[in-house]
Amino acid sequence: MATVNRRRVLLGGLAAAVSGAVTLPSSIPSWASARTTAAAPAIRDPFQLGVASGDPLPDSVVLWTRLAPAPLNPDGFGGMPDATYNVEWELANDQAFGSVVQHGTAAAVRAQAHSVHIEPVGLEPGREYFYRFKTEGFISPVGRTRTAPAAGAAVNQLKYCFASCQHWEEGWYHAHRGIVADNPELVLFMGDYIYEKPSGRGPELKVRGLAVPEDTATLALYRARHGQHKTDADLQAAHAVAPWITVFDDHEVMNNWNATTAPASTARKTAGFQAFYEHMPIRSTAKPSGASIQLYRQLAWGNLARFHMMDTRQYRNAQATGDNCTTMRDPKRTITGSAQEQWLLKAFETHPCTWDFLGQQVFFAQRDGDGKSSTCESPDSWNGYQGSRDRITKGWVDRKVPNPIVLTGDVHRHWAADLRQDYFDHSDPIVGSELVSTSVTSTSAGSAPPTAGWYANNPHVKYCKGERGYVRVTATPQQMKADFVTVSNALERDPAKVVIKTDVSYVVQAGKPGLQKA
Ligand code: FE
Ligand code: CA
Repeated sequence: MATVNRRRVLLGGLAAAVSGAVTLPSSIPSWASARTTAAAPAIRDPFQLGVASGDPLPDSVVLWTRLAPAPLNPDGFGGMPDATYNVEWELANDQAFGSVVQHGTAAAVRAQAHSVHIEPVGLEPGREYFYRFKTEGFISPVGRTRTAPAAGAAVNQLKYCFASCQHWEEGWYHAHRGIVADNPELVLFMGDYIYEKPSGRGPELKVRGLAVPEDTATLALYRARHGQHKTDADLQAAHAVAPWITVFDDHEVMNNWNATTAPASTARKTAGFQAFYEHMPIRSTAKPSGASIQLYRQLAWGNLARFHMMDTRQYRNAQATGDNCTTMRDPKRTITGSAQEQWLLKAFETHPCTWDFLGQQVFFAQRDGDGKSSTCESPDSWNGYQGSRDRITKGWVDRKVPNPIVLTGDVHRHWAADLRQDYFDHSDPIVGSELVSTSVTSTSAGSAPPTAGWYANNPHVKYCKGERGYVRVTATPQQMKADFVTVSNALERDPAKVVIKTDVSYVVQAGKPGLQKA
């Protein structure tokens, strides 16, 4: 029976990733598999998109799935009839579900593309759980998740991975296999989970096709595009191994969009946000209202780490392209909007955790071609909103945030950089660091890698690597270590022919800003 076989396969992969995992019993305790929605039409196995969890709190974590027997259908309904289905869920202490701690039933409705977001409460802090779903006699794959440690609790270590940019056509998701093998406690995703556009690369740089190979501008097509991504077994495994904390960048809606993009894009924002919510394990507080979504939020990991997950896309007040150096320095320009900026600065006033990670989308550190900022590189980044960057950097310095680290995606290369208030004064003190993860698959647009001369003008930039991969971070009360992981060839399908390795590691000592090569 297909359901059982697939469940065992995913469980096997999960067990391999979990050190000291329990051996599965020969028969998993049966979960009565009768029809759950008598009035609705029968369906085929709807668990084609796997399961996911996310946004862990000390007493809660979001559990996600979406019913979609035919996820590629261009109508966006995933092959589901126009009916409401009851979906049962279970949360257990063990992956054999011998000790179920909570269970319930949720309605999967067509208006939400039959996606299900469960937000159980009253869980124990800082521990692992397993979850699964059932509907119409079909049982989902099993996911592993965890709650955050209690607020202020002493935490000795946190290992998480972060990634971004996974164009479907441009490669295989070996990076997600690497993440699964790392067995992290958390996964962060910094955006470009989907791309609204087909790849512009030549056929030699594409490995697989889109179900609907056209620009995505309608809710139906955003749903189908998200659904296609979620069919990837490596991506499903990465979601099943740990809770994710996700934010979007531009391509979940359209290339380089911002708050000043033409009003016509309101419909696209509305559709893109809705499909994003339906496919991500995020809380109902992030349920969109038309063309508006509350994406920025804070999460904490005991006394060790805080994550300030940011939205640098929705509140920009200026067009990023066609800028000159003067407008980029206009202090009235904002990449965060003033409400988000105030929210962040307020959080900086308290220091409950050793590490403050600013999880966000676009390059933060200045990149400076000629050492005088007269070339004004990369306006679609914090370079184009220097007033914002100045206020936030000064904000954490003035408020004595102990160890700020900016996490970034977007640029399809690994980068590591130290942060200064004044990038053009190379003697200005270092006040933080930035870790930029390369893409899972998306290729670079062909700009040349930095030269020795470029590095000389940018002494705060330590590293750049134009390969696919992700970043693994291990934080302790004493130090933060960032491993920049590379995938030897994302165009090669056979895992046996692909090397996933740590290219370089950098360490920041707590209380001593600045990257040191490990
Ligand atoms: Fe990207
Ligand atoms: Ca992007």
